[in-house]
Amino acid sequence: MLYINCPHCGMRSQNEFSYGGDASVKRPSLNKEVSDQEWDNFVYNRKSLRGKHLELWQHISGCRQWIKVERDTSTHEIFRTFKADEEVAK
Ligand SMILES: [Zn+2]
Repeated sequence: MLYINCPHCGMRSQNEFSYGGDASVKRPSLNKEVSDQEWDNFVYNRKSLRGKHLELWQHISGCRQWIKVERDTSTHEIFRTFKADEEVAK
């Protein structure tokens, strides 16, 4: 069982959260012309990385806030969590 430290609520069981995908994907700027390939990359194409990765999770059974979780995809170790709007230093 994973335990995730919600920046709003504190340490909670993974059962209270819902996985939301890769947190490193950036939406193209508004009013900017984008190619079909750029849009496909934003909407569909994801790398399946092994190792330390930044993910989005929603505390669905708690505060319902989206958070960022830095997690190792091979060991499931969680290193840090952030509020969704927080900039993450690498
Ligand atoms: Zn929470």
